[in-house]
Amino acid sequence: MEGGLTLSALEQLNQRLVAYIDLSHVQSLLNWDLQVYMPTEGAEERGEQSATIRRLAHEVLLSDETARLLEEAKSQTAGLDADSDEAAMIRVIDRAYTKERNVPADWVSRFSRVTSLAYDTWVKAKSRSDFALFRPHLEEVVRLRQEYASFFKPYEHGYDPLLDDFEPGMKTAEVQAIFRSIRPAQVALIQAIGQAQPVDDACLHQAFDPAAQREFSLELSQRLGFDFSRGRLDISPHPFTTSFGQGDVRITTHFAPAYLGMSLFSTIHETGHALYDQGIPLAYRRTMLADGASMAIHESQSRLYENLVGRSRPFWTYFYPRLQQRFPTQLAGVPLETFYRAINQVKPSLIRIEADEATYNLHIMLRLELEIALIEGSLAVKDLPEAWNDQMQANLGLTPPDDAQGVLQDVHWSSGDIGYFATYALGNLVAAQLWEKINADLPDLAQQFERGEFGALLEWLRQHVHRFGARYLPKTLIQRATGTSIDPAPYLRYLNEKYGEIYRL
Ligand SMILES: [Zn+2]
Repeated sequence: MEGGLTLSALEQLNQRLVAYIDLSHVQSLLNWDLQVYMPTEGAEERGEQSATIRRLAHEVLLSDETARLLEEAKSQTAGLDADSDEAAMIRVIDRAYTKERNVPADWVSRFSRVTSLAYDTWVKAKSRSDFALFRPHLEEVVRLRQEYASFFKPYEHGYDPLLDDFEPGMKTAEVQAIFRSIRPAQVALIQAIGQAQPVDDACLHQAFDPAAQREFSLELSQRLGFDFSRGRLDISPHPFTTSFGQGDVRITTHFAPAYLGMSLFSTIHETGHALYDQGIPLAYRRTMLADGASMAIHESQSRLYENLVGRSRPFWTYFYPRLQQRFPTQLAGVPLETFYRAINQVKPSLIRIEADEATYNLHIMLRLELEIALIEGSLAVKDLPEAWNDQMQANLGLTPPDDAQGVLQDVHWSSGDIGYFATYALGNLVAAQLWEKINADLPDLAQQFERGEFGALLEWLRQHVHRFGARYLPKTLIQRATGTSIDPAPYLRYLNEKYGEIYRL
């Protein structure tokens, strides 16, 4: 930051908001612990603790002093280059402030308590495949999210304010239009694959010692550039990444004893998120810019690593011999090509996080439509399992045998994150756009991967994405990094080329 009198209001504002940022990180730590270590009986008190922290953060952000400094900072910096750190800082603070101002503190406390209990109940309900147990909690979550949307009237669509929480500036109609444009091509690809010779993925479905899986997960993360002096890898039922600042970025993974793909791709995915968080410049430490641009941009990083890097031949040319050394009994006799095809098997399946690249977006489209219907009120929570199963049948030709493998599979609704799912599919599109640009800039990327070198890739992402933190709106960031707006064409090109070769279409 520059010195000088003109920026003093912004500097004071930043000093003031340090408490808000610290409280947000404490909140993240409580939530990380909740998902990784907390015993079930801790849920109620943890809910109260989260509510208290959230209320304190709310009070800091919404104080008269914050409002006064924000107004003063805005007027002092009115003539500044819109591209400057200072202007970006004020835009991000203003957005957070305006969102928070519209939401009553009482709602925030209720939401925190409700979602903490809902999460705990969801874990139990999923393990027993008992939707009825979760239903009253989800009804409360939906009601609270509808109430939340009402704080942002007027809007074009009641789902817009929820979407905007995760994807600043994105509208429901825009996402629906993007999804409508890619859906026919994705369905056509899946149908063509369905008529081709199937790929056998039996090599992934064997007994794999979780301790050895953990060792390999650590090796993967480290090799891709995860800095373990500034982070940890732990285990949780639903893998996720969270950050308590640039010096402490946590990822989790999940080890399935009879399916290797779960930990491999969860670990690579979360590493992609973590590299983004670890790549935010120290200059933004404890400021509102020390964050990703949006969830779709975050997902573009995780999906780029998981799929475009982590399911590629050059990647496994390097890693597969190492994996075979960890699991000689299971993999010594399995050629690289068999393994490569197995990890890229396309097969409509019930579980989103296990879905292949070609069917993945259909899982998202299903959730988006159901969420929109829940928020509009055209679908009742009690009818959700049936609606889910109907859409699974229509989209993927499958009906879940139970709700654990259907409507109860994802953590998001229990956490109140209605509005989140679309960012996964948008992340896929942005990842493919970035990938085309990266490969144009780094023509020997494949050879680097074959040698186990992932530094140039990380450096490119640092330069074009990570180092900006939350400085740009997602649309601006995508434009700057790729030269175009969100464009589904690279994604469809990538899918058709890759799977055309694997399935000889
Ligand atoms: Zn993710």
